[in-house]
Amino acid sequence: MKPTLMRPVGLPLSASTPVVTPLMPSVVYASETPDALDAQYEGRVKGYTYAREGHPNADVLAQRIDALEGCTGGIVTGSGMAAVTAALLGLCKSGDHVVGGDQLYGRSLRMMKDDLPRLGIATTLADPTDVAAFAAAFRPETKLALVEVVSNPTLRIADLAGIAELCKAKGVLLVVDNTFTTPVAVKPFEWGADVVIHSVTKLLAGHSDVTLGWVAANTPELTKQLYDFIVTTGMTPSPFDCWLAERGMMSFGLRFAHAQQTARKLADHLAGQKGVKRVLYPTRDDHPDRARAQSVLRGVGGNMLSFELDGGREQANAFAAAAKGIAFAPTLGDVGTTLSHPASSSHRALGAEGRAKLGITEGFFRVSVGLEETEALMATFDDGLRAAGAVK
Ligand SMILES: *Cc1c(COP(=O)(O)O)cnc(C)c1O
Repeated sequence: MKPTLMRPVGLPLSASTPVVTPLMPSVVYASETPDALDAQYEGRVKGYTYAREGHPNADVLAQRIDALEGCTGGIVTGSGMAAVTAALLGLCKSGDHVVGGDQLYGRSLRMMKDDLPRLGIATTLADPTDVAAFAAAFRPETKLALVEVVSNPTLRIADLAGIAELCKAKGVLLVVDNTFTTPVAVKPFEWGADVVIHSVTKLLAGHSDVTLGWVAANTPELTKQLYDFIVTTGMTPSPFDCWLAERGMMSFGLRFAHAQQTARKLADHLAGQKGVKRVLYPTRDDHPDRARAQSVLRGVGGNMLSFELDGGREQANAFAAAAKGIAFAPTLGDVGTTLSHPASSSHRALGAEGRAKLGITEGFFRVSVGLEETEALMATFDDGLRAAGAVK
């Protein structure tokens, strides 16, 4: 090989194979001839051309998520919001109407309220725990419904069976954002969803070091529509992020099982403490949708819980400051437990009145339980509660 040539020299020959997916950052892929390129574009042979249109690390990651959700053809995007955007803007056109859950992820809500209407797509938000209220929001031109199975941060459980039946009867595309619940609890395609979305950033990748999304559809036509929109609008994920997320996914099942066990214990522990007004956890007997925790979530309570301190902002400040070692950070699904305070973060735009309607007070916290030892975690929460109780 001439030293001045910039083409790769090829990998050293090895009769054995790597046990870890290689990282492949190449943006372009060279073909032998124009005929060979034709064969690729016409689908007669499989080959990559340009990374925005697809690359090996994204495909390997997509296949792993496909396997969990029981589908094929999933596409990895540069963020969870890119996946939400692909579903909403890639499948709808001006004049269409979209119905969304009224407690969607903050940016999804913003897209429903601001961006879709700006582009001529009308939207209505409705309560997905009440199928009659949800049905009342439908119009003749309703094209798509977007729901999350467990709401943030009050952990209400959608009537997935009722909504799926409604969408089928009306010929409306059902899009389910399965980020919170994960396929361990719910496989939305089995319930009749047409499109499923993940923020891979959260539980699937699980280490708060990548931002990625995933979207899949139940027909080749919808998959192609999503794919073309994603490639055209440049929602490309980085190969390195895909590689990291694949590594994170290796332990997803174990992480989820452990965090869920701890979450249940922590929820029960908090419910018995002075200074805690209420605790929300899907499989607890006092949860407002406990029947659906069995029928929809199959008894999988998950790693998320919420609780309300007796008191206001001062008590919340004292709690967050004293619960040392728990990151006060508005994310979820990390290996470390994180604490979020919706009134000052995700739900601040709603205003006190809007929050009051959802039962989100200044004392309301959401917890994403991680992999700490249960006893140590409880002790840290007790530190926080003591500090909050000491504030007059
Ligand atoms: C975080 C999240 C998103 C957005 O994902 P990003 O990866 O942060 O863009 C969408 N939906 C839900 C339910 C989320 O929790």
